[in-house]
Formats: sequence, C-alpha cells, structure tokens
Amino acid sequence: NRIVTSSEMAEDNDNEYSLRPKKLSEYIGQKKVKENLRVFIEAARQRSEALDHVLLYGPPGLGKTTLAGVIANEMGVNLRITSGPAIEKPGDLAALLTNLGQDDILFVDEIHRLSRSVEEILYPAMEDFALDIIIGKGPSARSIRLDLPRFTLIGATTKAGALTAPLRDRFGVISRLEMYTTEELSTIVSRSAGILNIEIEPSGAAEIASRSRGTPRIANRLLKRVRDFAQVISDGVITKEVADHALRQLEIDDLGLDASDKRMLKTVIEHYDGGPVGLDTLAATIGEESDTIEDVYEPYLMQIGFINRTPRGRVVTKRAYEHFGIPYGQRETV
Ligand code: ADP
Repeated sequence: NRIVTSSEMAEDNDNEYSLRPKKLSEYIGQKKVKENLRVFIEAARQRSEALDHVLLYGPPGLGKTTLAGVIANEMGVNLRITSGPAIEKPGDLAALLTNLGQDDILFVDEIHRLSRSVEEILYPAMEDFALDIIIGKGPSARSIRLDLPRFTLIGATTKAGALTAPLRDRFGVISRLEMYTTEELSTIVSRSAGILNIEIEPSGAAEIASRSRGTPRIANRLLKRVRDFAQVISDGVITKEVADHALRQLEIDDLGLDASDKRMLKTVIEHYDGGPVGLDTLAATIGEESDTIEDVYEPYLMQIGFINRTPRGRVVTKRAYEHFGIPYGQRETV
C-alpha cells in the first residue's frame, strides 16, 4: 500500500468533492494533446458528428479517465466507463454497445487487456458502427448485422505497444500523455486545495508537487495526507515547512521516492552490480509483479534518469548511485 503508487487506491475516491476537471480549460498541462483535441472536438461539433475514436496512452494517474470525461462534457454527450478485463465475453460488449445513445462515448480503460474474441466484435463496431452476430450453430448458423448508433470509443492503456495492430489502426486520434512538470502539479495542488477548502501557501504546493512523481493522482493524494499534518501539528495552513515535515514523516524523499523504490534500486545495485538485470529476475528478487514494476515503478524512475531499459535488462544509472551516496566507480564494468 504505497502512498506514492500511481495506481488507484480506495482513498482517491473523490465522489464527495470532485477534483476532476470538467472542461478542457480546467484540465491542466498536456498542452499538445489539448490543442489537438480542441480542434477535433470543434470540427466534429460543427459537422454534428461523433468524434473520431481516441486512444490515450501513458502511465497510470496522468488523467486519461479525467480527459475522457472532459471530452464527453465538451461534446455534450454521455460517457460510459468500463475496462478491458471487465468485458469478458463478446455478449458483454454487444450489450454495452447497443445501450449507447447517438454520439455517446464509451471509455475502455486497460484496452490492451481485451480478449481476442471481444476485440473481433469491436472492429466492425468501430469501423462500420455495426455488430455481426452469429445465430445458431453448425450448418444452419448464419450471421446477421445489427446497426449501432455512431459512437466514440476512447481507449486508455499504459502500454501502447501491447495493443494489436488492427485495433490500434482503428483509432483516428492517438495521444500520449506526458508526466507533468512541477509547475503544472503545483497548479493542480492549489486548485484541489481550493476545492477541498485547504489553506495552502504557494511554496507548500510546490513542495508537494516536486515530490509527486509527475503524477496528478499522487499530488492529490499527498495533499490530503499533508493536510492532516497541517491540522494536527500547526494551524492548518500548508506551508513549505509543514509539507516537508509531513512528507519526511511519510518517508517520501525530496524526489518523491519511497522505501519501495529505494529497495528496488538498491537491489539492482547490490545484487546485480547495477545491472543489467532482466525484468522477471528483478521482479522475483524483490517479490513484485513484473507489470507493477513496468507500470508503477519504472515510468518515473526513467523520467528522472535513475534507470534505463536496455535489451539486456534494467540498468541503474550513475545519477541514482549519486542520489544514494554510493560510489559509482567501484562498479564492475559489464
Ligand atoms: P488515469 O485514468 O490516467 O489513471 P485519472 O484520470 O483517474 O488518471 O486521474 C487521476 C486524478 O488526477 C483525477 O482524479 C484528477 O483529479 C487528477 N487529474 C488528472 N489529470 C489532471 C489534470 N490535467 N488537471 C487536473 N487534475 C488532474
């Protein structure tokens, strides 16, 4: 239960006060993606058509679901949210699709985890807005075609490379979400503080932002934790000092690394002489899933240049050695 995990946790549930932006103008950062979407949305609206299918990819917590909501809101249509693993059978997808209204948006999170048989139903649905259904069995089986309303599929994935080519080719818009800068995260923290009625100084917001691993979900979570400290140890206002104290107590260092990151990096340094070490071997050594290492640990560690993916495995960089104060020179050359 890492506080700095980018995956969703129960405590992120913000039904009470929604921290999710509703409009494109409130959606912070991701300038390029927003600029493009603004044009596509405007063009689709002028033609009174559904928006082209959109694929959003990038690490967890960067705002893919939020952006789908923003798009639906800007288009003035309904949004249905589901995920790849939740659609088990072709019939599940058929039920979802036939219940959509004209121009509605279907958001499929973890779309790379759709089964083959479900994916095959999706192709004609995306391309021709039709469902091919087989009725009966054996020689008397026949296929009938059911028309669907025009809809927009928004797919989200942490691994664009894991998508099959035929599925990827059916998206008109493919956008990669980037990690956020500290300035952007500061703005998000201040905005969230406003919604949650938390008093925060700009330097306090900046302190939380710089330790949020480029990820809005983590920034919002840290804000809520720091608020507790501010309330108990001072007058409730989040200053730089309060944020720093709270995050230290939570064992999150000045780069946003926690004990799990450190353990992983130190394992590679101490057991594998800095690498390269294969992903599966590393996963087994630290007792984590390979997927978790790839989706949760690595995006940020690569972003800050602490780890490199090479064909022979993961390598810890000089910069990481320096962060831990471990001499790099003693490393054997591999
Ligand atoms: P993903 O679907 O990529 O895992 P989410 O859309 O669930 O991520 O975003 C996680 C949280 O981060 C949201 O609840 C939202 O409050 C916040 N968030 C994400 N992107 C932004 C943004 N661009 N501006 C403001 N808040 C954001």
